[in-house]
Amino acid sequence: MNSTSIPEALSIPEEKNITEKSTLYLVGTPIGNLSDISERAKKVLSEVDFVAAEDTRESGRLLSCYGIRKPLVNYFEHNKKEKGEYIANRLQNGESCALITDAGMPAISDPGEDIVRLCAERGIRVSVIPGPCAAVCALALSGLSTSKFLFEGFLPVGKSERREALSELKSVKRTIIFYEAPHKLVRTLDDLFEAFGDRRLSLCRELTKLNEEVIRTTIGGAREYYAEHSPRGEYVLIMEGASDAELKAAAFWADMTVEEHVEYYLETGLSKNDSIKAAARDRGVAKSEIYNQVMIK
Ligand code: SAM
Repeated sequence: MNSTSIPEALSIPEEKNITEKSTLYLVGTPIGNLSDISERAKKVLSEVDFVAAEDTRESGRLLSCYGIRKPLVNYFEHNKKEKGEYIANRLQNGESCALITDAGMPAISDPGEDIVRLCAERGIRVSVIPGPCAAVCALALSGLSTSKFLFEGFLPVGKSERREALSELKSVKRTIIFYEAPHKLVRTLDDLFEAFGDRRLSLCRELTKLNEEVIRTTIGGAREYYAEHSPRGEYVLIMEGASDAELKAAAFWADMTVEEHVEYYLETGLSKNDSIKAAARDRGVAKSEIYNQVMIK
């Protein structure tokens, strides 16, 4: 390397800044604060042939804030099948399209997933212009573990589907992310309390807006708070995952003695050695510990 050359690690990386034909762009837009749009998002939105949006009136207003005027096509939950075909045909005929939603990243608890799949099936190029996502912003602010997490989005509204969804989450050890609207928050807190007890919970609302707020509490604490305050704005709930103690208590063998636990496995047909091994694995202890207890008696 001579003195004028730039070390490779510091050189400007190759950028992907040409808006291409026959391409669907998934364009992330702000989740509340208009300044959170990227330069690249504005460029692509100005250069594509048309924009597909969940709510064309809302999106028209958003685009006009950035001085952008574009033909808009509506694409939402209840027309996504026909409109998906229509958009894909236009893409195959050489046009380019930007897909945006009411807030944040398209395809995350928003229409988008289906058209991405359709484009993939038809060999149409899909590219992403990243933007804010409420789930990730809230997780980062939550103060809870961010190393592993599960995005659950909106819980089902129907009673039995909701109970089933919650019961599936009981043994999840990673942090869990829910989306919720203000008018459903109190019911959801009650359901979370019933399913998970008083786990730690961070309620993140109105992110990036004037009244941005993060309440780091527990599910019980949140219930008490919202018994006296009306929920306002859009929420992301970040709940801690199941602790080892909780999992242990929920285990089928929790009320068994060590002997009963080993006996249980013997009755399933396992050998004595394998039954001891299985009980030790369940309890997270060394095999010798179980062996000693069973043999001493
Ligand atoms: N695609 C969006 C994203 O990338 O985050 C999510 C869209 S989903 C239909 C809308 C939900 O996202 C809201 O009900 C709320 O749970 C969450 N959300 C969106 N904007 C938010 C904000 N500014 N603060 C807190 N939650 C928000």
